[in-house]
Amino acid sequence: MTEILCYDDSYLREFDATVIETAPKGVVLDRTAFYPGGGGQPADSGALIAGEVSYTVKRLLRQDGKLVHEIDGDLPPVGASVHGALDWERRYLLMRTHTALHILCGVVWRDYGAQVTGGNMQPGSARMDFELENMSADFAERMETLVE
Ligand SMILES: [Zn+2]
Repeated sequence: MTEILCYDDSYLREFDATVIETAPKGVVLDRTAFYPGGGGQPADSGALIAGEVSYTVKRLLRQDGKLVHEIDGDLPPVGASVHGALDWERRYLLMRTHTALHILCGVVWRDYGAQVTGGNMQPGSARMDFELENMSADFAERMETLVE
């Protein structure tokens, strides 16, 4: 089991950990600050540094109930001490995007009683689907003003 540090501290950008297992696409650590994805927010990317070598982590994957730091090519071996660093610019933008979506959902629910039916999030942009009875021409403009 991997201890997920970002559940306790969502502003943690770097951490130290040990490789406890290798998988076909990456490594499992004893602890991580990478967000595994979920609740509409994509998983984190970043790097693991072992000694002189830096491994690019494409994202944190869920595989057979394990959290795998996806790495192309060579992997740090089991037992290796690694220093993890999130792609903080991307993660912070995702957090801000996520918060903006919650505000949007709140406004649409309050003013239109419409629930979210789907969506998709990227750093800095997102799509949200709402079940609306009808939509006026100035809807988008009104939303921008209210959400600000
Ligand atoms: Zn949320």
